[in-house]
Amino acid sequence: MENKLAVMLDSAIAQEHRQKPKRSYLGASRLEENCARKLQYEFMGAEADHPFTGKQLRTFAMGHHLESLVISWMKDAGFDIRTHNKDGQQYSFSVANDRIAGHIDGVIVAGPDGFLYPSLFECKTLNNKSWKDLEKHGLAVSKPGYYVQIQLYMAYMQLTEAPALLVALNKDTSELYFEWVAFDGAVAQKYSDRAVQILQASEASELLPRLSQDPNYFECKWCPYHKTCFGGGL
Ligand code: SF4
Repeated sequence: MENKLAVMLDSAIAQEHRQKPKRSYLGASRLEENCARKLQYEFMGAEADHPFTGKQLRTFAMGHHLESLVISWMKDAGFDIRTHNKDGQQYSFSVANDRIAGHIDGVIVAGPDGFLYPSLFECKTLNNKSWKDLEKHGLAVSKPGYYVQIQLYMAYMQLTEAPALLVALNKDTSELYFEWVAFDGAVAQKYSDRAVQILQASEASELLPRLSQDPNYFECKWCPYHKTCFGGGL
């Protein structure tokens, strides 16, 4: 019976996900991805080999709810964080004729003395292993994808004067990690240029080189576009 219920819930969750409009832009949060061709597939809306499972979708949804909880704690501590505009839409940006876009977690516009405002705010929820690694090595080393995401968001939101605040919640222990992230213009420029390269190649219907020519390479084995890439789909 329990299994039947799980199947029913997952089926409803998957159905809801299928009804969401497909992304039609290159996500600025994804630009540190190792494989440029994979980013092209994402931008071009290629069909993934396997849809997200109910469990994966539930994990994403839990992450969003936990991020809201962290924001409410920050507000309780006196930080004025703005997350949505007057129409109730999450703050976002788009550039290059809306072909590069991203949604930010928030902007801290005011708060306790001793910090600089306005400041980009980003929240991540991590399992214990991943959180411990972040705590040990710091954002740039432990989570380069998130580091690049924050650099691009700071650049595109023009929030470069004050460092961004990253808060990471350990989902297993409830510990919190805080890091102020200074703007690095060279990193933002490098990945902005990469985005332009991906857009230009996609518009010219040119596929950028594969990360590996070996379909059994570990990153390819787990890639959602494996069949498309090695099966000659696009
Ligand atoms: S299968 Fe490998 S080379 Fe092809 S898109 Fe995925 S990661 Fe890139």
